[in-house]
Amino acid sequence: MLDLNTHVQFVKGIGPRLAEKLAERRIVTVEDLLYHLPFRYEDRLHPRDLSTLQSGEMASVIGEVRGAALLRTRRMPIFEMTVGQGTNTVKCMWFHGSYLNGKFMPGQSVSLYGKIEASRSRPGNFKMIQPQFEILEEDGSGKFLQIETGRIVPVYESLGGTTPWGAKLSSRWLRRVLWDLFEELGNAPLPETLPADLCSRWQMPSRLDALRQVHFPPAGTAMPALQAAATPAHQRLIFEELFYLELGLELKRRRLREKSGIAFTTSDNVRAALKQVLPFHPTTAQKQSLAEIVGDMRQPMPMRRLLQGDVGSGKTIVAIEAALIAIENGYQAALMAPTEILATQHYLSARRLLSNVRSPSTGKPYGIALLTGSLDDDRKRHTRGRILRGDAQLVIGTHALIEEKVDFASLGLIIVDEQHRFGVLQRFKLMKKPGAAEPDVLVMTATPIPRTLALTLYGDLDLSILDELPPGRTPIITRRTSDQRAEEVWEFIRKQAAFGDQAYIVYPVIEGPNSDQPELDFPDDPAEQPEVESAPIQRATKSIGGKSVAKKVPATTAKKTSSSKPDALFPKPNLKSATAMYDELRTGALSGLRLGLLHGRLSSDEKESVMRRFQSKEIDVLVSTTVIEVGVDVPNATVMVIEHAERFGLAQMHQLRGRVGRGAAKSYCILMTGPRVSPQAEQRLDAMVRTQNGFELAELDLALRGPGEFFGTRQAGLPDFRVANLVRDRKLLELAKQEAARFAYEPNPAYTRGEIDAVWARLRDHWQRRYGLLEAG
Ligand code: ADP
Ligand code: MG
Repeated sequence: MLDLNTHVQFVKGIGPRLAEKLAERRIVTVEDLLYHLPFRYEDRLHPRDLSTLQSGEMASVIGEVRGAALLRTRRMPIFEMTVGQGTNTVKCMWFHGSYLNGKFMPGQSVSLYGKIEASRSRPGNFKMIQPQFEILEEDGSGKFLQIETGRIVPVYESLGGTTPWGAKLSSRWLRRVLWDLFEELGNAPLPETLPADLCSRWQMPSRLDALRQVHFPPAGTAMPALQAAATPAHQRLIFEELFYLELGLELKRRRLREKSGIAFTTSDNVRAALKQVLPFHPTTAQKQSLAEIVGDMRQPMPMRRLLQGDVGSGKTIVAIEAALIAIENGYQAALMAPTEILATQHYLSARRLLSNVRSPSTGKPYGIALLTGSLDDDRKRHTRGRILRGDAQLVIGTHALIEEKVDFASLGLIIVDEQHRFGVLQRFKLMKKPGAAEPDVLVMTATPIPRTLALTLYGDLDLSILDELPPGRTPIITRRTSDQRAEEVWEFIRKQAAFGDQAYIVYPVIEGPNSDQPELDFPDDPAEQPEVESAPIQRATKSIGGKSVAKKVPATTAKKTSSSKPDALFPKPNLKSATAMYDELRTGALSGLRLGLLHGRLSSDEKESVMRRFQSKEIDVLVSTTVIEVGVDVPNATVMVIEHAERFGLAQMHQLRGRVGRGAAKSYCILMTGPRVSPQAEQRLDAMVRTQNGFELAELDLALRGPGEFFGTRQAGLPDFRVANLVRDRKLLELAKQEAARFAYEPNPAYTRGEIDAVWARLRDHWQRRYGLLEAG
């Protein structure tokens, strides 16, 4: 008798050899197999009539093979097949299609899925390039008809990948295996993962029903709901996944609260210290956030707080105030920045803020130290000594450096600036001495993502939000222009400089068109990439070479396939580099102005000197790479020019734009584009012109890129979900979070002891194994 923990090798149709292959895809048990869900569905109950199809739409079509042939063109073999439906036909083409030769017989029924193109000259004739296909033939058992036709059919990601045996583990194979599996499982309910009362309150089907319906939707299920994972069955599985995620996070949070931290006090001395460094009236949001931070710091358990605020909202001063609290309590504070430039800037401004004041508790000036990778060894050693002795009370540096190599005398507070550039923050325990109390941690980010999402991504953090800009800011005027009109832009910079304003000009690369591309979000223009319709078989098209396909193929097709390998047709456009343009502008269009050059390959001293000179207005125009993307704060700079703006991501451009508009003067952001702008880049540029709201831009960015890319691999620690999609399923995430919090603290009395125990057991065994949620932190 099968149960969920049965090894897949015992499932009908699998066996030990295939089980081994499946294990490579992390499918080991019956449960793993059941949770390998279809990624789309085909409605073979109501197959589309060819005459109803529109050119350009994605469609599934069932028809009969009329003829097929392998054409050997000079460039590559092309397999062509004509599929008919009455008098209408679809001509299908597969490039490098030798492997299909002999596979189809005239008269066979086949199902096709792909983009339809209608022939203009001959109505009723269509074309599909590289469609996915399935041969719908009897296998003699009669079962076939039940699974493959006359119903809504699930389509799975093949479990074989591109390996030779991959073809075996096709969508069709999975369908059969799962069909038999459900038959064998019968109607005996599966062990429930959620309390019955929870399911019924939210009208969620049982686990068995949900799984069965997601794999083999009952007739009458709405296709759009299926494709959008919005059926009750889908929602139940998504909820389940998110519920356990949130429950794991909740537990982690609770464990952290049980650790002992430092209870800082806010004596008169501390208050006096805070007052004497504040250069302006804090905004209401700053006051509120600081109050929340102080509240945490006074507690005897470690603080883990995220301070989220759009660019320019004034996070730094909040951080410095928090640092002063720690310092006045006799502890050290570490401020970690993602780049040397930012670390240097923080160091300079901390010095400015703190240089003329004395600590009310000690009567002495504050000890501030900068620690970055490109300091020479002597200075590093010296600085480390100061930190170890406790002479350096505020230590500012790059993340990697401080985290890995520094011993503190008594570290009380860690501040991480611009967290979105880092992986997740589970490594702070490295910095903790054995036996010492956990330091408090404050993380700052400008990535304005929705609250629930932030709390999930940053797991165990509490959240404070700066949702207000300091007073007196005027909106930044944002314009797009082609680099054909660069002259006008340089002229504008000259004019602004004449008023004493400063400008940034940002380039995507440091040097030469092929040099490294620091932090460039779109090193390859997506316009140059093939259109991938998220269907596994189509991914194979990536390997198709060739610009002009074959003489036989109509021009439109040649153009289409050529997009899969851009280099052949279009030479990569030369990207202008900061170094080259610095020389060109200095001696050409901007001669007479004082230009500076800043990029990641300069030494620490050089960077510091350039930043210092820009800050003190000895430089009018700073030519730079994205190293200035985060945090750089020079309020007198009013112009931000981004060349090759089409190569930058939304978040990146938003951050860059945030370098200006930091004072009261009117500021400008000019997005210059190269010769070719992809439709996606158009959307990003339009959005930049349309809005300055970081929240709105982040939403759009998420929508355009999807959560995987948006958060990137840097956000390691974020689980890969089986069903859930954090962006699409935001409402369910919210719900799951509420239910999980309630469950963790005071479970609904309607839940039975057995149900509650089952949930905890599952969290422990299953989720712990998958995500390691409980141990980190
Ligand atoms: P970010 O949140 O992007 O890190 P910063 O902390 O660099 O922002 O602050 C942006 C600018 O606003 C800085 O020049 C800072 O001195 C200034 N600023 C911060 N808070 C206030 C305030 N309450 N009133 C006026 N200016 C402020
Ligand atoms: Mg900042």
